[in-house]
This record gives sequence, structure tokens and C-alpha cells, in this order.
Amino acid sequence: MLKLFCKIAATTSFAAAAFATFLICPALRAQTTQADRQERWRFYSPDTPVSDDTRRVPVPSGPQGPTGTLVLRGGRIFDGTSAPAREGTLVIAGNKILKILAPGSTDWPEDAQVIDVHGETVIPGLIDLHTHLSYSNPRESPDVTGSMPEATLRGAERLRYYIESGITSVRDVASNGEVPFRLQSWVNQNRIVGPRIFAAGQFITGIGGHGDEGGLDNDPIHGAIREASGADGWRDAVRIQFNRGANVIKIGSHFSVAEVTAAVQEAHELGLKVTCDCETFYIKRAVEAGVDMIEHPLPRTDETIRLMAQKGTEADPTLIPYILIFDLSGGYYYTTSRRFTFSKDANFEVARRMKQAGIKMGIGTDLVTDWYRYLPGPYITEMKQFAKLGYTVPEVLSIATKTNAEMLDMGTKLGTLDPGKLADVTVIDGRPDENLDDIAKVDLVIRNGYITVKHGQIFVPRHLPVPMPQPCQHCGAPVP
Ligand SMILES: [Zn+2]
Repeated sequence: MLKLFCKIAATTSFAAAAFATFLICPALRAQTTQADRQERWRFYSPDTPVSDDTRRVPVPSGPQGPTGTLVLRGGRIFDGTSAPAREGTLVIAGNKILKILAPGSTDWPEDAQVIDVHGETVIPGLIDLHTHLSYSNPRESPDVTGSMPEATLRGAERLRYYIESGITSVRDVASNGEVPFRLQSWVNQNRIVGPRIFAAGQFITGIGGHGDEGGLDNDPIHGAIREASGADGWRDAVRIQFNRGANVIKIGSHFSVAEVTAAVQEAHELGLKVTCDCETFYIKRAVEAGVDMIEHPLPRTDETIRLMAQKGTEADPTLIPYILIFDLSGGYYYTTSRRFTFSKDANFEVARRMKQAGIKMGIGTDLVTDWYRYLPGPYITEMKQFAKLGYTVPEVLSIATKTNAEMLDMGTKLGTLDPGKLADVTVIDGRPDENLDDIAKVDLVIRNGYITVKHGQIFVPRHLPVPMPQPCQHCGAPVP
């Protein structure tokens, strides 16, 4: 029977032969099923307890790392906790941090890859909480920017700027359609070099709300924003992002109480945090509805700030994009309200009042148009704003790593150099815990145990050729 099937397979067309071989060859079938499952891993953030998965697929183990041991020998270790840097050697096994050795110890396997980092500072990989990997540049023709391949390539290009700046995780809080999820999948498979991507999918907003004023594509499938109306519409919009693989939900004004309440409830039931871009009374409305985080330094009352502190609502103030808007454009554009209420000082004052109230704040840059080309400058400027708010330099570095990881819901896996955590590490040829400008001196970046930046530049090892397929050893039928 097997031979007969193989004969049929060998004598019909290639596609039919491939299908027949697939049906009868258990090894090949198992391989394909495994690939399908790996592809679906993206529906999960390892730390997010998802209440139910509509596809009923087994929970995969997540992206695997390299094999072997990597040793960063003899550097200054800043572990992300804002404790003073200390001399030591970091040992990485596969994609996890194994241990920190005291100076002089050589307790690692003989075949380990050892990199000397004397005089350099080893820190947890930096995290950017607010990116838009596929946002287009309004100065470019919509005929070009509207294409999904172009949007994907824009994202791929930006990944380089982030990883070469020592940033090993980005939270993408709106990009076109499936683009952030495809980029996320390729990075996790180590098929392109870049930081980990935690994606929101589309930015959910009211009809004609924020996000729709600047020419951003509002196509319901491929757009970067998704307009919704009514409580059911907002629930649907959340479910669609979840189905695509969202790690977080991003919403923005305008919305009614019923709409924002429905969106937050739906996201929380699906195990996702919600972050909101809004201003004035909309912030209060969002906080009362239970959003987890507010983006930007937009105007809000003292009462709202008190409410945020009371409810534990976090903040990602993103002062730098507004500094750039003032410096490059002379002020805010498009919306009516921001034009009148904004100044650099007013924005800083909102951040200052949030710090004073004890609100947990993280670091994000929100680099739209082509501002990513300024990196690492904007990231360093945002860190300096935090220093200006009164945080010490080690505290700022700890916010950029440990606090940001917690705000991503990844505090148990990222953000510090504790043994057992994922090996996302940045090595700086300087002392960033003393001087934030030294962040620009990135030498080495390791993401998930892989060396992704060497001497400040993306590092891609030569590909390892896969052995060519051989015909079926039983019958000689071609293997697809
Ligand atoms: Zn943004």
C-alpha cells in the first residue's frame, strides 16, 4: 500500500506528489505541524495570563535562543536595580542569564565564547515604551507609504536604529495592520535583527478621533488606526487586535464613558493592559474606567493626577516628541486643543506633578515621521528629562530597564541582570550610570542570547546552509 501510494505520488504532478508524500510521511507531517504551532506563538505574551484562547492551540514555549555559553568578562555591572555598578563577569547560557561572577573568577565551560568588556559597563537592555514602527512620513507620497510591503520595510529599517541604540525591547503602540506582528514573528525567529516587539496592533479611536487628523491610514484592515463607535464597536476593535496577537491595547479619545468602559473591560478579560492617549477630562474618564496607563504629558487636573495615583494608573510621559514638535515645527499641529494648551514648560510641569504624586512612570520616545533617524539622541533626551524631574542617574537607568519591563508586564523576565532572566544585555563603552550621554557609546547588544550588535553596528553571522532535501528513502518519491 505504501509503495503504491509512493508510486502514485512520484508519477503525478509535483504539487500532488508533495501532498501525497505529506499525507504518508509521519516525520514530515510532524515537522509541518510544529511550524504551524511556532507561528501561532505570537498570540501569547509569556507573562500575560490570557483567560481563554479562541483558537484552542497549545501554549508554545516561545522563542528559543542559541546554544552554548557566552561570557562578558570583567566589566562594570549595573544590574538595573539602581544599586551601584560593581566589577564582575556576566555569564549567559543559551538565552538566559546564568550568573554574575566576582572579579577574577573563571567559572565557565571551556568551550564558552568569552568577550572581554574591561572598562565597559554591562546593563540590562534598554526598553522604549512608545514606538510606531510603520508610521509613514507625511512628506512622502501616499501612493508609496500606503503600500503594506513599504510599511513592513519601514519597520524593518527602524528596528536597526533601536537595536543599535542599545534598545532590546520596544512597545509598538500602533502600526499598520499586521505589520508589527509580522516583524515581531521574524525577530523572534531570529530571521531579522531587531529588538523584541510588544505590539498593540491598531490604535483604537472614536470616529474622527485622535489619530485620524494627520493623514494616518484609517483603513479598517491595513490602517494604523481603527475607528470604532458605540460600546460594542469598541469591544469588537479590542477583540480584533487580540486576535491578531496584541500584547497590549492602545486607545485614544474621543470616547464616551460606555465606549471606554467596554474597551477596558474587554481587554482586561482577555488578559491585556490598556494604555490611553487622551487629554483633559478624557484622561479622568479613562482612569475611572480602569485603564492601566496614560501616554504623553497632556493637560489634566490635579484631581485626575490624584485619581491616577490612587488607582495605580501608570504613565508614559513621552516628553521628547513634544520637545521635537516645538523645536522643529514651532508648536503642535492638526488638533485644535493641543495648539492652545501646550508648551515645553507645561508638559514638564505635568510630569513633575505626576512624579510628586508617586505615579509610576516609564520611558518612551514616540518617534513619528523620520525622527527615529535621530536615535539614540531622543532616547537620551527623554532620560535627561527624568533626571531633571529629580531622579538620580542610576534611578533613570533603572526606569529605562527594570520599571519599563514591569510596565510591559515582563518584570519577571526582563529589566534586570538577575539569573534566570532572558539574556537581553547592552554593553556601553562608558559609564551611563554616571553620565547619560554615554548611552550613545553602545558597543555590544545581546538579545535573547544572540549577539545582535558588535562594535556599535548590527551583527549578522553568515547563514548556515540547510542540507538539501533528499528523495524519500523508502521509495524515491520527491520530498517537497
Ligand atoms: Zn504615539
